[in-house]
Amino acid sequence: MTEIEVRNPVTGAVVGTVPNEPADAVAAKVRELRLYQQEWEAIGPDGRKEWLLKLQDWLIDNTDRVADVVQSESGKPRVDALIDPSFAVDLIGYYARRAGKFLADEHPAPHSPLARVKRLTTVYRPYPVVGVITPWNFPLAMPALDVIPALAAGAAVILKPSEVTPLSALELARGWAEIGAPPVLAVVTGAGETGAAVVDNVDYVQFTGSTRTGRAIAAACAQRLIPFSLELGGKDPAIVLADADIDRAAYGIAFGGLFNSGQVCISVERVYVEAPVYDEFVTKLTDHVRELRQGADGRQPRHHIGAMANEAQCDIVARHVDDALAKGARALTGGKPTGTGTFFEPTVLVDVDHRMSCMTEETFGPTLPVMKVADETEAVALANDSDYGLSASVWTGDKVRGERIARQLNAGAVNINDVFSNLFNFALPMGGWQQSGIGARWGGAEGVRKYCRKQALTSPMLPTQQKELFWFPYSTKKLGLALTAMRAAGARGARRFGVLDVINTIGGKGK
Ligand code: ADP
Repeated sequence: MTEIEVRNPVTGAVVGTVPNEPADAVAAKVRELRLYQQEWEAIGPDGRKEWLLKLQDWLIDNTDRVADVVQSESGKPRVDALIDPSFAVDLIGYYARRAGKFLADEHPAPHSPLARVKRLTTVYRPYPVVGVITPWNFPLAMPALDVIPALAAGAAVILKPSEVTPLSALELARGWAEIGAPPVLAVVTGAGETGAAVVDNVDYVQFTGSTRTGRAIAAACAQRLIPFSLELGGKDPAIVLADADIDRAAYGIAFGGLFNSGQVCISVERVYVEAPVYDEFVTKLTDHVRELRQGADGRQPRHHIGAMANEAQCDIVARHVDDALAKGARALTGGKPTGTGTFFEPTVLVDVDHRMSCMTEETFGPTLPVMKVADETEAVALANDSDYGLSASVWTGDKVRGERIARQLNAGAVNINDVFSNLFNFALPMGGWQQSGIGARWGGAEGVRKYCRKQALTSPMLPTQQKELFWFPYSTKKLGLALTAMRAAGARGARRFGVLDVINTIGGKGK
């Protein structure tokens, strides 16, 4: 088995080595998970809650050490590295405690008076093994976002973290083992082929990553006829209207575009500002971005912006910025790599337009291209001029106007006067439209039900007869009456009272 070296992007030093696991090793782990899954399902949501809350305790007790690992393989500032375990703790609290309610049997009302003879039940039963495949931007939180709800649903989980940042995911698995939980969570390490082997062996795939890989995974899942949920790339717009609080918009958009060096799927990637406030906004944004401190943290939080997670990503950012500058854009601050490690300067670009890749392709870096627009209509048209549709923000002093604009945007989430806030609300679905994905994570009950197969049960409410009206041999008269009653229950107006010809013609002759 070959090995993968994991490097600190700030120093280039090797911080760990993991096996590049081949397909047969993945298949063997999935087989083993299947052995333990049934018992995991059988202990029910309350039994699972106990283990998930123990994992939560472990994450709290080990936060600093886990954040060290996150930092070592991602080059994040300390505060950003601390977000990963804290986010996981919050999510565990939500799904561990609510899964029982979300997965409880439902008894929907029958659709018609005729159906009232049955008790109807919808049962939620987990897909036995869920495969979770994650990228490198939040090395611990990204796995936790999907592993936790899948475990809460009663599935066993095989997690394939990014080959760039696998060490934090291994910490999650270490926590699960150290609390002595049932062996229903396994991590496999490796690159694309290992991920493909996960897809080949599991019963459901939850993927976060690039649109290109997402498409390949969707095709592989279609071949196997297994369900999947994909959270893919984005090119999130921010719209700043003339009636907005410009200070808040500048602070919020700087954070939304530059947090985690812009390596967030829902980061602000392009900004449209109404002409009357354009100059004021650009000045405030640029002044604020110039104040941000960039560098490598130890355990003391000193910086706002860290490194890019790898050189390839740094190169994409440089390509987008250079393309914009070559086509007439100006960098008011930043605009190039710092020259150390994989740091790229936080950058504000103006005089940009949709001929430039910085406005149309996912940059995933610390850039904020800002474009002047005549009015709201132009802002909405440009915001929707994208193949992506993950999330968006609208900045305005009029919340009603903000919501009206939000409903015109092609995006899975829109935050008014804020960024990311949908991400911190597990009761809401987080999903992308268009090329940004299929399906969603969370959304309250849906967040665990998506990992379940829905089973319909019917059972009689009344003592049963020897045979039902519809069974063989047919009694034409009784059948005619039953069909007439079905039509009467579903039809409208005078049609309700029409009698089936079969009754008129055969009438009393039937048995
Ligand atoms: P990124 O740009 O974040 O690296 P990718 O989509 O390439 O995005 O990778 C996201 C995750 O998908 C990683 O864990 C990667 O190893 C995995 N992956 C890459 N190719 C495949 C594939 N063909 N099948 C399954 N997983 C894959």
